[in-house]
Amino acid sequence: MKFLQTSNLVLLLSAFLAMLGGARAGTLPENSWMSLPHHPRLYADAAHWAVLKQQVTNDPVSRQIFAVVKDSAERVLDQPPVAYVDTGAFWHGPMRQAQGRILALAMTYRLTGEPRFLVRAKLEMRTMADLPNWYPQHFLDTAEGALGMAIGLDWLHDALSSEERERFATALVEKAMRASLLVSDGKTWVTGNNNWTAVCHGGLVVAALAVAEREPQLARQIVGRALKNMPRYAELYAPAGAYSEGPDYWAYGTTFYALMAEALRTTFGTTLDLERAPGFLPTADYTLQMTAPSGQLFNFADNGSGLGYEPVMFWFARELRRSDLLQREAANLGALEEAIAAGAPRGDSSRMLPLALIWRDPSITTAPFPKRPLTWWSEGGSQPQAVMRSAWNDPRATFVGIKAGRADDSHAHMDIGSFILEADGVRWAVDLGRESYPHARANGLADDLFKTTQTSRRWSIFRCGPESHNLLRFDNAPQLVEAKAEIRPLPPGKEAPGFLVDMSPVVRGQVARAERRIRLHPDRSATIADEWTTGAKATVVTWQWLTRAQVTVTNSGAILRQQGETLHLRITEGAGARVEVEDVSKPRHAWDSPNPGLSRILIHLQTPPETTGRLSVLAKLGSSR
Ligand SMILES: [Zn+2]
Repeated sequence: MKFLQTSNLVLLLSAFLAMLGGARAGTLPENSWMSLPHHPRLYADAAHWAVLKQQVTNDPVSRQIFAVVKDSAERVLDQPPVAYVDTGAFWHGPMRQAQGRILALAMTYRLTGEPRFLVRAKLEMRTMADLPNWYPQHFLDTAEGALGMAIGLDWLHDALSSEERERFATALVEKAMRASLLVSDGKTWVTGNNNWTAVCHGGLVVAALAVAEREPQLARQIVGRALKNMPRYAELYAPAGAYSEGPDYWAYGTTFYALMAEALRTTFGTTLDLERAPGFLPTADYTLQMTAPSGQLFNFADNGSGLGYEPVMFWFARELRRSDLLQREAANLGALEEAIAAGAPRGDSSRMLPLALIWRDPSITTAPFPKRPLTWWSEGGSQPQAVMRSAWNDPRATFVGIKAGRADDSHAHMDIGSFILEADGVRWAVDLGRESYPHARANGLADDLFKTTQTSRRWSIFRCGPESHNLLRFDNAPQLVEAKAEIRPLPPGKEAPGFLVDMSPVVRGQVARAERRIRLHPDRSATIADEWTTGAKATVVTWQWLTRAQVTVTNSGAILRQQGETLHLRITEGAGARVEVEDVSKPRHAWDSPNPGLSRILIHLQTPPETTGRLSVLAKLGSSR
């Protein structure tokens, strides 16, 4: 009874606070919709645009960014509008390309006043508006198009004729907002918890805010539905800011989540505390922690090897007043400029470069850099991950990334307990990242590509299944997709940090228990120590390490050589272990791409019934320095 009374008190208090005015988390006060600000209202109002005009003259970083934006706008001037050809990748690429063009052209028009950019932006918008639909069956495409059209309509509002405003707004309403209502709520992006949820709701909210005075009821419905469903998506970041789909998909989902929060803020003056979701602001550090000393990502699951230019980092830098978060973007602007000059279609996140300029805050340039920890982990989370490094800002530092979690998750691989290892500038233990989706679809895997059931043929894709990961395997059986493994930090022994993955749940039925411990030692070497207990039957144990190095088998393990560097793998515990090396560069199935130069080191052991077996491998740096 006492508990009930306390709850009632809390309810009363919340109601009282809500009555005092101001927004409760998750809802907009009714009067917000009555007094919508003038256009432009998305991301920058007229006053902010006036500041930006000064900023691109006075602030060197802003000047550089705008030079790239303007350059990309100029390159589009004499090109035909984006062609919406269905290539099997749907209209995802074309919609992103059109969005990038509209943003660059609209910003360049606003900051230079030159009509040629306005004329060209309108041509791109008209072409998109005249399409029969925006491919709602693959709603990411619709959401990307909606974002581009909404920002174009808002930023160029006063320069458009009433006929043009009508045409563009009608396209947003019919082809994005109303089309989204036909998507059923169950088991789709509407109520999901992966990048789709953020991208689709995010794009739709921006569209709704662009046309809210025309379609007030529909706009409220779209925004209300997003606010209802986004908290579940945001749980992905809890507690420490990790992302279950990995760093590449982090960039996609997180960008649209921030886009939604920021569009609410610039329209209504409140983000409704979306950014206060547990782990969301801490996720600013996630991709930097997941970047190895080589600059390449810890590319587990369906991730690519690197991030290019992420405008959302300017948003985090401004929110947290931390210029150190822009390290990658500072280094990569030149590369982006070259890519644009070479005619890259801007299907990547750099299509939103104009937003980097809007979120750029020149006053944070002198903020002191906090010392980032050398060891980081997700503190549990939906797909537990951990990284250790010997130093920051040293391309030769040792880096170990390890993950647990479950294979039955969006874009996940059968990689529970797998790791990557970099040292002396070489990635000695690799994860292959994603298989090309178009390649797999075109070669017989369309149905199973994203199916994560135990018997899905997804696991026969070399890059997705157990064959290509740095695992400990029992009788070569697959991991159980519905089971989840956890990571926890090891007690610091001899000052060496380390993590333990409790593998037992994902190998249930194969052995009685299995654990993997990985430590990074002060001399930059690392130990992978595995321990397992067999059940009623003898078990064939196989340890896997995938590498692009040249491998020589020795009495005690193997020597790896790559890029003039050397790494010794020494078996320090593991009676009866036998080492073998295989060339695994060639495709196994039609749906596999080749993996040039790839070898697999195997360590074979046999463990009798009801026996505890151990295998420890020391990865010791062989290069002198
Ligand atoms: Zn993988």
